[in-house]
Amino acid sequence: MTASIDAAGRVCEPLRELPVARKVDVLVVGGGISGLLAAVAAGRCGARTLVVERFGSLGGTGTAAMMNLFYVPYEMSRGLVRELFDRLIARGGAIPGEFVVYDPELYKVTALEMLAEAQVDVLLHTLVSDVVMDDGIIRGIVIENKSGRQVILSRVTVDASGDADVAARAGARYIKGREADGKMRPMTLIFRMGGVDVPRLVEYVKKHPEDFSPDPLQCMLDIEHHMIRVFGFFNLVETAKANGELWPDCYYFRVESVLPERGVLTVNATRVYGVDGTKAEDLSRAEIETRHQMIQLAAFAAKYIPGFEHAFILDSASTIGVRETRRIRGEYVVTEDDIVAGRHYDDVVAVDANQQNPHQQGGHPPDGKEGGPQDVEARELIARMFVYEIPYRALVAADVEGLLVAGRCISVDHHADVYTRNQGCAMVTGVAAGVAAALASAAGQSPRQVDVNAVQARLRGLGADLDLLRRLGPSPAM
Ligand SMILES: Cc1cc2nc3c(=O)[nH]c(=O)nc-3n(C[C@H](O)[C@H](O)[C@H](O)COP(=O)(O)OP(=O)(O)OC[C@H]3O[C@@H](n4cnc5c(N)ncnc54)[C@H](O)[C@@H]3O)c2cc1C
Repeated sequence: MTASIDAAGRVCEPLRELPVARKVDVLVVGGGISGLLAAVAAGRCGARTLVVERFGSLGGTGTAAMMNLFYVPYEMSRGLVRELFDRLIARGGAIPGEFVVYDPELYKVTALEMLAEAQVDVLLHTLVSDVVMDDGIIRGIVIENKSGRQVILSRVTVDASGDADVAARAGARYIKGREADGKMRPMTLIFRMGGVDVPRLVEYVKKHPEDFSPDPLQCMLDIEHHMIRVFGFFNLVETAKANGELWPDCYYFRVESVLPERGVLTVNATRVYGVDGTKAEDLSRAEIETRHQMIQLAAFAAKYIPGFEHAFILDSASTIGVRETRRIRGEYVVTEDDIVAGRHYDDVVAVDANQQNPHQQGGHPPDGKEGGPQDVEARELIARMFVYEIPYRALVAADVEGLLVAGRCISVDHHADVYTRNQGCAMVTGVAAGVAAALASAAGQSPRQVDVNAVQARLRGLGADLDLLRRLGPSPAM
């Protein structure tokens, strides 16, 4: 039953019945941080749950894109989020602090353990290519993998794909990128360098504070507590550009580390603009361009930065990191003003805390020039803590039944996305979506009909702190 080409050159697939591989209560598409915690939460609420993931391991952007930082203060974490952190810390895989720095490899293993304990099934190496619809209700998904093309039926589906792939295929309304022009934040290939003399680097940064971000969160030089973060080298980058050694839109170099004492640093400095993470051609272009940039950056570091003289490229992420694509239009769209004002919602299901410069671009404007001389956020400002709520309505697609979303693709606007695209918000919205999906499935309801009070009660039972904003206010001192 393969496709064939007709006399007019059209390629057609014959009508065919698809095998139903499984039937589950809660189907979670995407095994990133939001999907992981959605699935654990649904499993703990007693739902037969399956996670479908296109990669061979879990963690999504948080592992495959070589991230090593949960942008959420450890002390403010609760429930399943705190449990994940504590499990990682217990096995030497994370360091608590104003952020939680982690080892992606130990995170992958911990994720599998948590799913197994919650009796959640995992299907890896599987791409979700379409949805099964029935009169506006999503009944399941179509998958493609080595076993062929199959169907998984579900009572409730959670779209934790980051890109809202399921919602988009189901016909839900969404916005891609910035509302005014559709432009999206840049993509980045993260890579690691080994053989770095970190004490020598730290000594250099301390002697040249004028060449770095003044924000203590962007420049952390604490080798003893395994926390190295350096954002700047502004003048060195300009010199290298004048010599034709870096590309024109490069304005800074940035490193981070979870294991500085081993001389290994993560470099988060490649940038490709004007690309769309829902298009394979653009993803390919970004992978290719950032690999060229990686070579330039490594050569730049070895030539100009004390401590990098003998450094080498250790490895690069197995996928380009995508910061922004689709966000669904839910029953409510959270705005940055909501976040900064600390708006309360009767249907609050998630509370996040992270540090930002309000009404800026979140460090990654879609227009480029990030870190350039005009970028006050990078060069002058110091971020503040924001505690904010997410209402249940931001997880419920306005126009499709049987569907919830979690993580990067929830219903927020481009400026609110600065806060919500981080892993902290992805975690708490994941837990909320998982609980709501399990309750909806058990009651035979669409997520839109679920009793939010019951969701909130179950979330509190799992340790979630839905009163954090009421207790601390929107911008507590750090
Ligand atoms: C370069 C970069 C640096 C960042 N730095 C930080 C940071 O320091 N701290 C921080 O907190 N956040 C950071 N972020 C943001 C954060 O990592 C992500 O926004 C967050 O991890 C998103 O989580 P998610 O679960 O929504 O999506 P993802 O982690 O992207 O997970 C989605 C999962 O779904 C899978 N998937 C997608 N489509 C399909 C499909 N059709 N079929 C099957 N599977 C599918 C993907 O493979 C993936 O595993 C960064 C992001 C980038 C790109």
